[in-house]
Amino acid sequence: MAKHVETQADCIFCKIIAGQVPSSRVYEDDDVLAFMDINPVTKGHTLVVPKAHHRDQLDTPPAVLAALAERIPKVAAAVLKATQADGFNVFQFNGTAAGQVVFHIHYHIIPRHLGDNAFAPWRHTQYDEGEIQRLAEQIRGNLRP
Ligand code: 5GP
Ligand code: ZN
Repeated sequence: MAKHVETQADCIFCKIIAGQVPSSRVYEDDDVLAFMDINPVTKGHTLVVPKAHHRDQLDTPPAVLAALAERIPKVAAAVLKATQADGFNVFQFNGTAAGQVVFHIHYHIIPRHLGDNAFAPWRHTQYDEGEIQRLAEQIRGNLRP
């Protein structure tokens, strides 16, 4: 898989993968690279990326997603050990509205310590009467072959 690596000239992560931009690499194999985020949310914040350029979750072939999923826990365990964190978040943003800034798919591994308040708690909301059923039916319809 991914022996012919797709790159995009103006992509900062493609440049990091190619070694044209310096980074602190922590893990690398034929398909996946992990390196330190330059502006960490918490110390040890690490990014896991495929070497091939894909924009986001919907643009990335399942085999590449599987390769990433296989590496993430290994990298996370190493990050956890190095930072002596109590837990970690795995985040992956799709689209500007979701906070994606670099359009080369990547997973954030963010080590967490109890009480670090690194993120504001999620703001949960409510459905109107019947809305959850209607929306679920639409989603089911979109998933039907
Ligand atoms: P996004 O919001 O797209 O999910 O996150 C992009 C992440 O890439 C950010 O956390 C940002 O700090 C990180 N980042 C952006 N440019 C660079 C860079 O040149 N080097 C490294 N190591 N990280 C970067
Ligand atoms: Zn790229």
